[in-house]
Amino acid sequence: MKATLESKKSTQNHSIHDVIISGAGPVGLFLACELALAKCSVLILEKAENPHSPLKQLPFGIRGLSAPTIEALYRRGLLEELEVHKRLKNPHANAGQGPHRQAGHFAGIPFYDGNIDTSQWKSRLPSSTDTSLISEMEELETVLARRAADLGVTIKRGHAIADFHQTEDGVTVQSGDQSFKGKWLVGCDGARSVVRKTGGFEFAGTEPEFTGYSTQVDIADPEKLSPGRNVTPTGMYLQSQPGYVMIQDFDGGAFHGAEKPITLEHVQEVLRRVSNTDVTISALHTAATWTDRARQATTYRNGRVHLAGDAAHIHAPLGGQGLNLGLGDAMNLGWKLAATIQEKAPEGLLDSYYTERHPVGAQVLDWSRAQVAIMRPGPTARALNAIIRDLMNTRDGATYFAGRVWGVFTHYNLGGDHPLVGHSVPNFEFEEGAMIGEFMHDGQGILLDFDRNASLKTLASDYGDQIKYISGSAKDRLALSAVLIRPDGIIAWASDNEPDCSELQKAAARWFACDRPRLASIRQASV
Ligand SMILES: Cc1cc2nc3c(=O)[nH]c(=O)nc-3n(C[C@H](O)[C@H](O)[C@H](O)COP(=O)(O)OP(=O)(O)OC[C@H]3O[C@@H](n4cnc5c(N)ncnc54)[C@H](O)[C@@H]3O)c2cc1C
Repeated sequence: MKATLESKKSTQNHSIHDVIISGAGPVGLFLACELALAKCSVLILEKAENPHSPLKQLPFGIRGLSAPTIEALYRRGLLEELEVHKRLKNPHANAGQGPHRQAGHFAGIPFYDGNIDTSQWKSRLPSSTDTSLISEMEELETVLARRAADLGVTIKRGHAIADFHQTEDGVTVQSGDQSFKGKWLVGCDGARSVVRKTGGFEFAGTEPEFTGYSTQVDIADPEKLSPGRNVTPTGMYLQSQPGYVMIQDFDGGAFHGAEKPITLEHVQEVLRRVSNTDVTISALHTAATWTDRARQATTYRNGRVHLAGDAAHIHAPLGGQGLNLGLGDAMNLGWKLAATIQEKAPEGLLDSYYTERHPVGAQVLDWSRAQVAIMRPGPTARALNAIIRDLMNTRDGATYFAGRVWGVFTHYNLGGDHPLVGHSVPNFEFEEGAMIGEFMHDGQGILLDFDRNASLKTLASDYGDQIKYISGSAKDRLALSAVLIRPDGIIAWASDNEPDCSELQKAAARWFACDRPRLASIRQASV
C-alpha cells in the first residue's frame, strides 16, 4: 500500500468517521445511506463541485434499473421518491405495443413482452416489484443525496481524494491540502478510481474493441438516419429521440483512448461511416465517449479499504447493467461493514462481500463481452448474431434473456438445503395487505414465521435488534413455513416444514452475532 502523505501544509480534520467514501455517484451515495441507516458516521468526499451535468440528465442520463435494484430501493422506501419512470415507460424507440412491445435487447437484438414467460420465475409474486424501469442518473443521485443528508451523512463536494495511507486502525485520506480520518475507506470513485490505483488493486480484464459516442447534435437531413437502434456492418447507431445519437464504432477503442477533443467533423465522419449514409451534422452540442474495456478488481478489499461500483468493475454499457451491479455491491457491503464496525459481525462476514459480489460482477462482464462478440463487423459475428436472434424469438429464449438482463436470476451461492437460499426474498403479501418489503426500511434482518412458532420468536430475540421477528399469514407463502432474511433482502435460511431450530440457529450465527452473552449480563445485573 502506498504511503506518501505530505503532512507539511495539510489541515487535519480531527473527527474520525466510521467510513470515508470517495465519490458521491449513485453507488457511493447508496452505500452511505446503508451505513448511516445502521448508525455509522459517514463522510463522502466528491471530486465535482457541482452534482448537475447534462450527461446525467435525460436523454443521456437514462439508466435502466433491473429487479435487484428496484427491490433494494423499494425495501428502503426510496422507490416511491423516483418520478421519472412514471413519465417514461419504455426507453426503446418504436417499442411497439402489446405482446410486440420491445422489452429489452441483447447486442441490439430486441426481445418482446409477449414472448416472456414470467410463470417460469416461481418466486416472483403478483406483489413483486417491477423487473425493470427507467431512471435518470440525476434524479437517482438527488434522491439518494437527500436521503443520505437526512441520515446524517456529510458530503463534501469539490474534494477529490488524491492519496491515502492506512494503518491497522484506520485510514488517513488526503484531499487538496486537507486530510480526513476514517476507520474504513470505500472507493466508489468510478471507472478511473484513485482509491483503486493508489490502493494497489489489480484490475484484470480485456481491452476494448470499440469507441462509443453519446452526442446531442443538430442534423441537417435527419431523414437519412433510421429511427431506433440500428446494428450495421461497421457498428451501431441509435437515435433515442431526434438529435440524440449514440454510435458504436469498432476502432479498437482508439479514439476514446487518445483522449482527443470530440469535434463535429469527427462525429460526422464516424456517423457517416457507421450508418453508411452521407448525413450532415450542422451543430454539435454535447458529446462523450466510452468503450467496452472490461476489467474487474481481482480483490475488492485491501486491509481497511474496499471498492464498489465502477471502481471495482468496468464494462460496456450495452444492456445497461453497470449501475445495477454497483448498487448491488452497496446493498451487499453496507450492512456487513456496519456490523464489523459495531463488532456484531461473525467471522468472515466482511469477506463474504467479495465472495458474493465478485462472481456477479464477472458474469456481467462476460454478458457485455458476449454482446460485443456478436456485434463485431465480419461474417463470423453476423452468423452468430443470426442464431442468437432466432433463439431470442422463442419463448424460452426471450424468457432467458429477459431474466438475465433484468437480474431475475441473480443469486449468491450460499449453500444450504433450500433452493431459495441465496435468492432475494419474494415480496410476500400478508392477509392484511402489507408486504414484507415494507418491513425492511430499517435495514434489520427478519425472521419471517408463517406458522407462529414460539421457539422461533425466542431464537430471534437472542439476536437483539439485528433480527426482527415477524409472523402472519401470507396470501401466497410459496409453501414455506419460515424464512430468515438478511438485511439486504437475501434469504439466509428457509424451511417448508416444521422448522429445524438447530439449522436455523446455524444459519443465524453465520450472518448475525448472537446477543446472548449481552442479554445474560443484563439479566445478571438486574437480579
Ligand atoms: C452511455 C452509458 C449508458 C449507461 N446505461 C446504463 C444503464 O442503463 N443501466 C446501468 O445499470 N448502467 C448503465 N451505465 C453504467 C452506469 O452509469 C455506471 O455503472 C454507474 O454510473 C456507476 O456508478 P458509480 O457510482 O460506481 O460511479 P460514477 O457514477 O462514475 O460516480 C463516481 C463518482 O466519483 C467521483 N470521483 C471520481 N474521482 C474521484 C476522486 N478522486 N475523489 C472523489 N470523488 C471522485 C465522480 O465525480 C463521481 O461523482 C451506463 C453508462 C454509460 C456510459
